[in-house]
Amino acid sequence: MSKNYDAVIIGAGHNGLVAAAYLSKAGKKVLVIEASQEIGGATASAKVFPEHDAKISRYSYLISLFPDKIIQDLGLGFETISRSLSSYTPYVRNGIHKGLCISRQWDHATEDSFVQLTGSPREARAWRNFYGKMEAMAKKIAPTLLEPLPSRTELRNLVGMDDAWRMVFERPIGEAILQHFESDIVRGIVLTDGLIGTHASAFDLQASKCFLYHLIGNGTGEWKIPKGGMGALVTALQRAALGAGAEIRTSAKAVGLHTSADKVEVHLEDGTSVTGKYLLCNAAPNVLASLYGKTPATPPDGAQIKINMLLERLPRFRSGIDSKTGFAGTLHIQESFPELEKAYHDSKAGNMPDTIPIEMYCHTLTDVSILSRELQYRGCHTLTLFGLHTPASLFDKDPEGARQLAAERALAGLDAYLEEPIRSCMTQNADGSLCMEIKSPLDIEAEISLPRGNIFHKNLTFPFIEESGIPGWGVETEDPRVLICGSGAVRGGGVSGIPGHNAAMAILKGN
Ligand SMILES: Cc1cc2nc3c(=O)[nH]c(=O)nc-3n(C[C@H](O)[C@H](O)[C@H](O)COP(=O)(O)OP(=O)(O)OC[C@H]3O[C@@H](n4cnc5c(N)ncnc54)[C@H](O)[C@@H]3O)c2cc1C
Repeated sequence: MSKNYDAVIIGAGHNGLVAAAYLSKAGKKVLVIEASQEIGGATASAKVFPEHDAKISRYSYLISLFPDKIIQDLGLGFETISRSLSSYTPYVRNGIHKGLCISRQWDHATEDSFVQLTGSPREARAWRNFYGKMEAMAKKIAPTLLEPLPSRTELRNLVGMDDAWRMVFERPIGEAILQHFESDIVRGIVLTDGLIGTHASAFDLQASKCFLYHLIGNGTGEWKIPKGGMGALVTALQRAALGAGAEIRTSAKAVGLHTSADKVEVHLEDGTSVTGKYLLCNAAPNVLASLYGKTPATPPDGAQIKINMLLERLPRFRSGIDSKTGFAGTLHIQESFPELEKAYHDSKAGNMPDTIPIEMYCHTLTDVSILSRELQYRGCHTLTLFGLHTPASLFDKDPEGARQLAAERALAGLDAYLEEPIRSCMTQNADGSLCMEIKSPLDIEAEISLPRGNIFHKNLTFPFIEESGIPGWGVETEDPRVLICGSGAVRGGGVSGIPGHNAAMAILKGN
């Protein structure tokens, strides 16, 4: 085994693998070192319930931000599939259960559903108008993500749409939402894109940044199902990197580094070391700081609870909608605008929200290939719950008790809209336990090193050079031999491969 490389990459998350594939394809000698036994980081799939053959996207589950260009450049045999429905939001009016059903492609049924909720066609018009502007902006911004960072003025001029720019880049997104929409339910659906992975109020600019990244993927902002699960992306990237000559070592944790004018030496936990002309860090920026021996700044808390389930059957909704429709897109529960704000303020004050806003996704309604033939034949489904506003700090004192409390409250929220409790639909293990896996932010930190369970490694930043930023690709650090190739880069966050691509380009093309 060699000790000297053109590039050493710390971390085999999907971004580390993207960087490895680009650099090795360009003829560079690349080593990827991964602390865990498995590669993939937050994009891993796993047989979460060992007795049942279902390969579940354990952490991340939907893809929007991963540019088609990277798939083509690297020749990845990887596909994403559109969901038939965008979202379903059950609600109760005068004691009657109903639901707002939004198709992926605008249609009469969607229009009618808005009218049933609000009593007039005005909200549907506002929706189309608002998202029309957002899509136009997304189309302009998306191609810049794989180029050197523009300045604020350059991006501002490129976007050119004063109104849309102000709404997203200059004011907290909550203001635009209140201005455009009348229904608290509709306002909440729009706002959730600003809160996934971000513990913020609607009136905090941080929510605007999160909102932006949820809308610009590939210029459409459509969130799709990864065919075969998230792990299929990891397998395709691994194949591309190994095929081009990269080496990948697992169970190889970096514990320190030393840089000089022409190389970086990385020290591993087993006492050995490797050397690269460049070091690319796929791990979070606070991990990088600790490798330098610095005391890392604590990143903001991750604030989500994630529950993976295997079901014998989909539960019925009280609203009467067919379960195969209600669960086909993103299911929003307890996510009206006031509920989201209250949950934020409760959690910020140190209390587990009584009403935990949740979103749910059923992979298998779009792609059954993650289930064995037997589970498919039985009609089983996987279901994922992503609960908001449950920051890591709420779990510090009593991790186990807080995890159970958060799960109880999240599932109770779902049950309120179902004919039968969700637990009664879950597959059982031989010992009678339910196929349900609950992950708090602290669990996620322990398992895949996301600091404080923060799914983006740190706070997201707008896709231009911020005041204190370093010009380049958004991946540079103060050390010219060290680059960030993970979520912590500018334009990082989410399953995007963008920081991996951009770190490779910073080496191959320079600024
Ligand atoms: C529960 C959850 C749900 C999510 N849902 C979605 C979603 O649906 N869609 C979406 O787009 N995004 C989602 N995200 C966010 C997204 O998954 C991440 O932002 C993204 O995958 C990060 O990728 P990465 O390659 O930059 O880093 P990571 O996946 O964090 O990989 C970093 C790698 O570095 C390794 N490492 C760390 N320290 C060391 C060390 N000292 N030495 C060696 N290796 C080290 C880690 O083990 C890890 O494998 C979700 C995240 C979570 C946790």
